[in-house]
Amino acid sequence: MEFNINQFLKFGTKDGSYSIVTEREYYDSQITATDAEAELLINHFGLSNITVGKVASNPRLSKKEFLLYPSGQKIYLNLVFPKNNKPELRLYISQTAGFKPESGTVWFLFKLQNKLWIGSMPENQWRAENIGALEDDSDSIYQSLIQEKDEIKIAKLASKEAFTRDRKLAQHRMTVEDYRCECNPSHELFISKYTNLPYLEAHHLIPISLQKQYNKNFDLLDNIFCLCPFCHRAIHFSEQSTSRPIIDTLLDKRPEVLNIIRGTEQDIYKFYSLETII
Ligand SMILES: [Zn+2]
Ligand SMILES: [Zn+2]
Repeated sequence: MEFNINQFLKFGTKDGSYSIVTEREYYDSQITATDAEAELLINHFGLSNITVGKVASNPRLSKKEFLLYPSGQKIYLNLVFPKNNKPELRLYISQTAGFKPESGTVWFLFKLQNKLWIGSMPENQWRAENIGALEDDSDSIYQSLIQEKDEIKIAKLASKEAFTRDRKLAQHRMTVEDYRCECNPSHELFISKYTNLPYLEAHHLIPISLQKQYNKNFDLLDNIFCLCPFCHRAIHFSEQSTSRPIIDTLLDKRPEVLNIIRGTEQDIYKFYSLETII
């Protein structure tokens, strides 16, 4: 599948694709390149420079140069259209050649400065490293802004970027939700010493950091979810078996949030690196 915002941020290119190495592909030492992968390979090497038939029919033409991620070492892998009518493109993976990703890992290709990079990593690592869309350096300032009653301190904090978010909107969301965690209203909350109200944090389901990319305002009531500290930290830091059910609960609770980007649940999963990788 094609790179999304998290890969654009990580690898610095929009020209890339990733998928899971199947058991069969590992066992046969050959990957069938589909959709985005095939397009990338064909665009890079040129349709007429790809062997039609067996590798042995033209070993020199079949051998293609890749840069191995992350070292940048040059490696050579065979790439052919095994059948005459070119319906499938086959990439041979090989320990000897320097690229034999394990079954179940993510393998990826991307083009950068006219070079084609190839690499692989365990799925968990891939998800953990591809999460730039969620990065928010000013989140703790924003959470204190929501709490803070001291107007002088607010003025000081307000000079920072976090103020692009309106604390009153977050406070309004909390009022509407009767000061309960939107993931599960029975979650226990302590009382804030600043507000004397149950302590909640505000989370923008469509990451606020993407406002620039979309050229849109994401600080909208529909997009602000109030969560207990556990659920909020889990969304940002937990592995997928915990974070995905939380995202699902929030999407079920307020599906209107999808209208903001005219998107689907899959788009939301991508922001959180929770998409099903095919
Ligand atoms: Zn958050
Ligand atoms: Zn909660």
